[in-house]
Amino acid sequence: MIRLRGVGKTYDDGTVAVQDLDLDVARGELVCLVGPSGCGKSTTLKMVNRLIEPTSGTIEIDGEDVTRQDPVQLRRRIGYVIQQVGLFPHQKVVDNVMTVPTLQGVPRAKARERARDLLELVGLDPARYAGRYPHQLSGGQQQRVGVARALAGDPAVLLMDEPFGAVDPVVRLRLQDEFLRLQDEVGVTVVLVTHDIDEAVRLGDRVAVFAGGGRLAQFDTPARLLGR
Ligand code: ADP
Ligand code: ADP
Repeated sequence: MIRLRGVGKTYDDGTVAVQDLDLDVARGELVCLVGPSGCGKSTTLKMVNRLIEPTSGTIEIDGEDVTRQDPVQLRRRIGYVIQQVGLFPHQKVVDNVMTVPTLQGVPRAKARERARDLLELVGLDPARYAGRYPHQLSGGQQQRVGVARALAGDPAVLLMDEPFGAVDPVVRLRLQDEFLRLQDEVGVTVVLVTHDIDEAVRLGDRVAVFAGGGRLAQFDTPARLLGR
């Protein structure tokens, strides 16, 4: 599904963020990228949806080279969830979720119905939350809206960068559990960045462990990484 070969990124100031990276993510798989701060995880993620251009190597989604695709079209097929969810503050929850389908030309009534289904799916009762504004939600709830919004365009791929990083540990565990169930149901392919090895092992079908200098140290199932 996603295939990186010999991917490298050196920033303009000479910082080598990612080096010679090979990575494969199968359809429906959840792969976690884990490692200490500054090891190149976010850079890797952003190269997949072309927020950052690689300086070497190739990245393919479904056999298509992402650098040959129009970035705007590409990003419509890729959901992106970051720690600071970035909901539109002056739009109701339901309108935040409808943004992408509406841009894609889905009729409003249909997009609204879908948005409400997605809110249900992420554990937010639409009758209660659809009409609220983002500031009327807790951090955990805003994060759920972010996930619903990312799923609204029926993305082939969901990229998540520390999606549960901004919420307290108890809420985080609950969101992780719910996310696993949801991913199972939706069957979307996920690449998730975290600095928390426990989170990576809990969530990942496979875990890519980054070492300093943006090199991949290990890439295996949690069971094998933990020697079980
Ligand atoms: P991680 O997500 O693992 O914390 P990043 O991918 O954000 O790591 O960063 C990898 C390296 O690239 C770090 O050394 C970081 O300081 C550097 N870096 C990130 N963005 C830029 C940038 N825009 N310009 C220069 N260096 C950057
Ligand atoms: P979570 O566990 O999802 O982070 P919280 O414990 O922070 O939730 O919030 C508990 C309840 O308080 C939620 O039902 C949420 O809707 C409500 N709430 C939180 N912040 C606000 C707010 N600014 N305005 C209205 N309701 C709020």
